[in-house]
Amino acid sequence: MNPILMSVALIAGLVVFSYSMYRRIALLTRLGPENRIGNIRERIALLFKIGLGQSKLVGRQRERSSGAMHFFIFWGFLILGLREIIIFGEAFTPGFQELLPLLGSASIGAYLYTFVYDLFEAIVVVMVLFAFYRRIVVVPERLNINAEGSLILALILGVVSTDLIHEAGRFNLVTLYGYDLHLLSHPVFGTEMDWAPFAALLAAATASWGEGMMAMFYQLGFWSHILIVLFFLNLLPISKHMHVITALPNVFFGSLGYPHTPVALLDLEDEEAWDKGALGLDRIEQLTWKQGLDLYTCTECGRCHDICPTYVTSKPLTLKWFNESLRDHMDEQQDNLLRTGKSEGEGSMVGDGMVIHPDTLWACTTCRACEEVCPVSIEHVPRIIAMRQAQTLMHDAQPAELNNTYRGLERNGNPWGLGYDQRADWVEGMDIPILTEPPAEDVDVVMWVGCMGSFDGRNQRIARATATLLQKAGVRFAMLGTTEKCTGDLARRSGNELLYQTLAKENVENLNRLQVKTVITQCPHCVNSLKNEYPQLDGHYEVFHHSQYIAKLVDEGRLKLAPSQEGTVTFHDPCYLGRYNNEYDAPRMLVERSSHEGLTEMKRSRNESFCCGAGGGRMWMEETIGTRVNEERVRQAYEVGATTIATACPFCMTMIDDGIKASGKEDEVQVLDVAELVLASLESEQG
Ligand code: SF4
Ligand code: SF4
Repeated sequence: MNPILMSVALIAGLVVFSYSMYRRIALLTRLGPENRIGNIRERIALLFKIGLGQSKLVGRQRERSSGAMHFFIFWGFLILGLREIIIFGEAFTPGFQELLPLLGSASIGAYLYTFVYDLFEAIVVVMVLFAFYRRIVVVPERLNINAEGSLILALILGVVSTDLIHEAGRFNLVTLYGYDLHLLSHPVFGTEMDWAPFAALLAAATASWGEGMMAMFYQLGFWSHILIVLFFLNLLPISKHMHVITALPNVFFGSLGYPHTPVALLDLEDEEAWDKGALGLDRIEQLTWKQGLDLYTCTECGRCHDICPTYVTSKPLTLKWFNESLRDHMDEQQDNLLRTGKSEGEGSMVGDGMVIHPDTLWACTTCRACEEVCPVSIEHVPRIIAMRQAQTLMHDAQPAELNNTYRGLERNGNPWGLGYDQRADWVEGMDIPILTEPPAEDVDVVMWVGCMGSFDGRNQRIARATATLLQKAGVRFAMLGTTEKCTGDLARRSGNELLYQTLAKENVENLNRLQVKTVITQCPHCVNSLKNEYPQLDGHYEVFHHSQYIAKLVDEGRLKLAPSQEGTVTFHDPCYLGRYNNEYDAPRMLVERSSHEGLTEMKRSRNESFCCGAGGGRMWMEETIGTRVNEERVRQAYEVGATTIATACPFCMTMIDDGIKASGKEDEVQVLDVAELVLASLESEQG
């Protein structure tokens, strides 16, 4: 091979590549800081599981075949990386492979590696053909079919097929025409051809084509391979396929502690930030470098499409679209950002005719289904919340319906603004102590009722069912009565961090003053705030969702169940219990133990459950675009013949109840909380 030609190609390719990468990396360094360096061990574990193990691709039942396809192409890339070093080295030093540790002809490693890369080259050919089949014949709706994607696939096919052709030519030139082209050979292991079955097969198939043709295979295969690799490498940083480079780093720098990661605490004492209008995320330069890396890393695979309740119900939002809009804007502003650190013009990215339409920003229920399935760990919800913070705190541009809700929270500590002194009225007729002094020895747990349990008629019944179960099990508990306020979850998710922190600080102060250690609540949003977010404000408690606590009482034999529920019972996973707090089993155990037929799962369940439509403050906003999320969820329950939809969240309860009514099936289908199911089953034996 010609080392001068190779030097020219290599230097030109690497110089251009380095310049493109320099611009991308320089842009990321212009964005905001974020600490993603600590806990290296955990990060390496993430890299192995999600990055190298491709767990989010191969782990999904719904998409096994495309997951396997990506897995093999990805691993083909990794394995062929070493092969590229060998091929490029051969141009400078014939027999270059002999110089590499464990890859010389005396080592079994050389033959094993030959077998693996040959096998993977063949597999990658098949997988790329399968990918083309999916783009041309079956065409999943979630995919972007564009020329760039097809070009990338064609280049991958080119990389592996040219190497196979080069190898086949080499094998034939050595064995048929006596060329000295450094075929690996060992008295025990045999020759390289014995370990490269697919290249050897191609060699056998073309053996009769003559020496001239084989010499062309050898030379043309080699140089076209080199040119394709260099072209491919240089295409990546200037195209939407930058993710090929950034996917593994993005996984490595991913959020630790997911799914329990709290919203980042805003410093509301920072007067300069208020003066400059710099709270939240309003302009592209306010992204952190990790958020910028997220944008480069989106593969546009669209897995976040059909999992998103808003996309399914025709709202203008999915994580992929959101990423595309922001990334295109970042690309457009690249020169300005590199030059001045700022994007052009004034004003917010959010607005009618701007980068992100308000309908898009406010559609998100923060359900995190998209993050759950994203194969490269893109973090969407924190970015959405940061953008809402800018809208709410800096521009007072939240949806108008939220204004009354905020007012209610400010004045009376609940979203309806009902008299705070009525908060404990639901308890009438039940003997539940109210904590006014630090708990004495005779209180094991504090029941946090939540706004829905305190004020909403349907959810008050669940509060009563929960309290009754605790009483029957002999749990020593108390409640806070009028001292309890909304945890502030809806304010935080809708960007009103000021209101959230006001409510949360008051709650933490009261809980700490009363020396509360253990809390049980029927609301997963309260669980999430109390358990995962209040530690930011020095509130540290052991927090149980009522399904967890009741399941514990059942396990301990303090509540004895006999199935009472007839018909088909399904379970709707609340997002803030399942995806946010990883609890899928406790409520299922209670449903199964309470129902004669056990539990019938919906297609969308557990970590891929479909949101009810209430999270992220959406409960308090109008839903005027597309169809309604709750009605779609109820339809999914009907699909499996459910006559009872069990759930474990007051917001889900309300949304599903409304969905059933909207479908006119309230006489055939009911929605029950797990506490109600357990209480009914208990009453037939213990009660
Ligand atoms: S955000 Fe994730 S799931 Fe959605 S298109 Fe991008 S890579 Fe795919
Ligand atoms: S968090 Fe939920 S609603 Fe928001 S974009 Fe992701 S899947 Fe859609």
